[in-house]
Amino acid sequence: MDNKRVASGNGCKLYKKCGGCQLQNLTYDEQLKFKQRLCEKHLSKYCKISPIIGMEHPYHYRNKVQAAFATTKDGRIISGVYQSGTHRIVPVDLCMTEDKKADEIIVSIRSLMKDFRMTAYNENTGRGFLRHVLVKRGFTTNQIMVVMVTGTPIFPAKNNFVKALRKIHPEITTIVQNINMKPTNLVLGDRQNVLFGTGYIEDVLCGLTFRISPASFYQINPVQTEVLYGKAMELADLKKGQRVIDCYCGIGTIGLCAANVCDCEVIGVELNPDAVKDAKFNARRNNKNNAKFYCGDAGQFMTEMADNGESADVVFMDPPRAGSSVEFIDSVKTLSPKKIVYISCNPETMARDLELLTKDKKYKVTSLTPVDMFPHTNHCEVVAQLHSDINS
Ligand code: SAH
Repeated sequence: MDNKRVASGNGCKLYKKCGGCQLQNLTYDEQLKFKQRLCEKHLSKYCKISPIIGMEHPYHYRNKVQAAFATTKDGRIISGVYQSGTHRIVPVDLCMTEDKKADEIIVSIRSLMKDFRMTAYNENTGRGFLRHVLVKRGFTTNQIMVVMVTGTPIFPAKNNFVKALRKIHPEITTIVQNINMKPTNLVLGDRQNVLFGTGYIEDVLCGLTFRISPASFYQINPVQTEVLYGKAMELADLKKGQRVIDCYCGIGTIGLCAANVCDCEVIGVELNPDAVKDAKFNARRNNKNNAKFYCGDAGQFMTEMADNGESADVVFMDPPRAGSSVEFIDSVKTLSPKKIVYISCNPETMARDLELLTKDKKYKVTSLTPVDMFPHTNHCEVVAQLHSDINS
């Protein structure tokens, strides 16, 4: 494990300006200890915390890279990240957490802009062309998607631009124009045109092939995702024929991994329609005919299942940072699966939800393992196992 002190001036020059890697002043070992303590602070009330699982090479792990574009007062186009909590762009050409190839592509796009007389979007006036570039790379397949987020629907000389970009980077497998004309903090708008290729990439995770669209959620650290899912499957201890619900399922990765571990029935629910489309496609792509995916709010979906008297053996839940909802937790208790595997990217909201799940003694937390999915940042992922059959 690389345990050199990476920052405090000698690692990333942008450390202080950018603010994305809050823990860069610590060695990687110290970062892991910090996260372990963070989990202990919020969660040790429920169960002993297992040692955090760190990353062997905690650099360039991000398979999804996003850059914002702007023009400086002296007319230069810059690309990079927003300084934490502001809308000021910190120029970034190479970041120690991001995929190197993705960073290279973004720099190439910036240098092509002049030749193609492309302007950068101006948030204040709402004028200008290029707002963001999003690059996603399948680490296993090496497929690369470039999404050009534009402030106007017209993309002048698009065919020549695609040709020029592919000449520099023949490894790009698809290029998409996404149109976002709204004054919003969201990167992607809802309209898109595929300029080259299929409009999506595929990646292989835990032996399964997944389709990833521009707007679908896909774990950003695929190396640690395999570790995380492996732990989640171990904790679920699935048996053939069991009924498994994958809540907040994204493109169906956890549910389909479950179906791959043993021949179980999988029901997935997810709010983002693009992700659900991908999940359905992924089920077919991997011959998992016993996996069904639904679009909707997980809380409402589970309440309907509970009202219809349905049951489940294992519930996986992997909510966003804000955590789950009271409605969701109440309906899980009504469905009363024997096991719940809760994957969280925020120990604070996880603690709040575990309190609700355990307060009437129906469930007990039987395992808690932090996994470092986001080295150098203060974000921490935790996987928990809850058991209903406490005395068995
Ligand atoms: N389990 C997936 C995705 C986890 S991220 C994976 O490991 O890749 C959380 C997901 O929850 C996102 O895809 C997001 O779109 C979805 N989501 C957010 N709020 C939701 C809600 N109320 N109901 C269902 N899904 C929701």
